[in-house]
Amino acid sequence: MTSLDDLPLRPELRGKTAYGAPQLDVRHRLNTNENPHPLPAALLADLGTALAEASRGLNRYPDRDAVALRTDLATYLARTSGVPVGADQVWAANGSNEVLQQLLQAFGGAGRTALGFTPSYSMHPIISAGTGTGWVDGHRRADFTVDAEAAVAQVRAVQPDVVFVTSPNNPTGTAVALETIEALYDATRGMLVVDEAYTEFARPGTRSALTLLAGRPRLVVSRTMSKAFGMAGLRLGYLAADPAVVEAVQLVRLPYHLSSLTQAAARAALAHTDALLAGVDAVKAERDRIVAALPGMGLTSVPSDANFVLFGHFGDAPAAWRALLERDVLVRDVGLPGWLRVTAGTSEETDAFLTALGEIVPVVG
Ligand code: PMP
Repeated sequence: MTSLDDLPLRPELRGKTAYGAPQLDVRHRLNTNENPHPLPAALLADLGTALAEASRGLNRYPDRDAVALRTDLATYLARTSGVPVGADQVWAANGSNEVLQQLLQAFGGAGRTALGFTPSYSMHPIISAGTGTGWVDGHRRADFTVDAEAAVAQVRAVQPDVVFVTSPNNPTGTAVALETIEALYDATRGMLVVDEAYTEFARPGTRSALTLLAGRPRLVVSRTMSKAFGMAGLRLGYLAADPAVVEAVQLVRLPYHLSSLTQAAARAALAHTDALLAGVDAVKAERDRIVAALPGMGLTSVPSDANFVLFGHFGDAPAAWRALLERDVLVRDVGLPGWLRVTAGTSEETDAFLTALGEIVPVVG
């Protein structure tokens, strides 16, 4: 058997294992922050029509610049943020992971550095490594919030080419204040990428970094249809930024990266935005129910603006993870000592999770 060590692999990839949450066949899968609600029947019908229509043109390459889709995404962003956003400010790719990869291909790369405030989305350093970009861990306080002054000082000292701010943050659920984002923008000469994958789940009063875009050409807001829209299988992520940033990612994107089927399906889904986002409030209510139930079990959580909750504190989090799995509940061990992360789903899933948790706490708590 050939092993990776036998291949002429890039040195920085040696000894690494592929990213991936376990895809186990478990009754309650609460480990990858997906939306549990089935797609509305009217959307399923429209998807069938849209895909059949797009299939007729499959002998041709797709619209390389996905103009119609970017126009629809711009309309969604403008409508929900109150900020004017034009199609020339929007770029789309296969999941926001690909958007982030294109940003690092354009603005990171060999001899350059990215910085993100860890613990945060584990793909940021992984995509950095894949694009040859150096990585620096930014600091958070013990409660997982970002200390604006310390963050600005660190960015000034490191002078990264790309700064990542995940807000709301994965895996902690922590939102970052817009004032902090503004201060980080002023502190860096590099690109500032605000990863807003979970922004639709934020509690009232949280504002998107879209409101900061005007006059800040090095600011990028990254979004996805995988979470609030409940379309993780579609693979559709997008960004909003200055049109020059869109031009920059077009230098590195593969031609025809976004298939005609993906573009057609995403447009069909966006036509049902209101129905798709109707499930968001229900998910937020389940998140808040989980948060409220934890103290009664002697547990705690990190305040969350996302569709998941980081909960603990366990003496042995891996043992708690296994005990929940034995009760058919799959949560995520994100490698933070004492903590586990659970995705908020349906009320039945919350019931199952809380029941299982109630059983295991006396044993492993
Ligand atoms: N950003 C964050 C913070 C995430 O948690 C995720 C998904 N786990 C992504 C980006 C990537 O999402 P997708 O590629 O499905 O758009």
